[in-house]
Amino acid sequence: MTEEARKIRLVMELRKSGITNTRVLSAIERVPREIFVLPSFVDQAYENTALPIDQGQTISQPFVVAFMTQALEVRPRARVLEIGTGSGYQAAVLSRLCRRVYTIERFKSLLRQAEISFKALGLHNVVTRHGDGMLGWPEQAPFDRIIVTAAAKEIPPALTEQLADDGILVLPVGQNAWEQSIVKVTKSDGRLESRDLLPVRFVPLVEGVVRESVSVRH
Ligand code: SAH
Repeated sequence: MTEEARKIRLVMELRKSGITNTRVLSAIERVPREIFVLPSFVDQAYENTALPIDQGQTISQPFVVAFMTQALEVRPRARVLEIGTGSGYQAAVLSRLCRRVYTIERFKSLLRQAEISFKALGLHNVVTRHGDGMLGWPEQAPFDRIIVTAAAKEIPPALTEQLADDGILVLPVGQNAWEQSIVKVTKSDGRLESRDLLPVRFVPLVEGVVRESVSVRH
């Protein structure tokens, strides 16, 4: 099966599992996931599974990326903050749907690799920051949408503070690796409302940054 055929099969699978938003589906179709996976996993780039990336992290399952993106209700003029750049895949999908993506990663080496991928794809509306995403990005706040792609024990207060009115925050929340769910938080007239959408398993959101000198993959 060719890569293109595998991609079409994946998009059909996403559609069947409840991803109905056509903008989301076409963003997934337009972003080559093989760019964001490790060379040894390229043949699995269009499988509907999470895959390992460097630093013991993962690129999320395409269904989860699509589900969270759909829940985020991204509009073309939106400014979106992402915590947990990882491979950069989720940021690349968002970049096709909104005005600008601000993405924060605590591992410098992952961020550098993701930047290489954004450049290779000509995604000029993604801006990156090496830092602790739990603190958000105060200089650029407020954000219309915020997505966190690592599991928080509690909803980080800096993020709800940096969410614009009428904004939406989507994140996995859970006390441990077995009990997490995607939570959607909406803000209106300064009031927050949240609801659980889906049980999931994410790598944890961890405080602080890592300035490791591990070299970037070639
Ligand atoms: N969105 C990514 C998923 C990566 S996994 C993708 O599409 O590939 C989650 C990422 O969150 C990891 O890279 C991890 O290092 C990062 N992370 C965890 N805690 C963080 C924090 N406090 N600030 C920034 N990034 C964090």
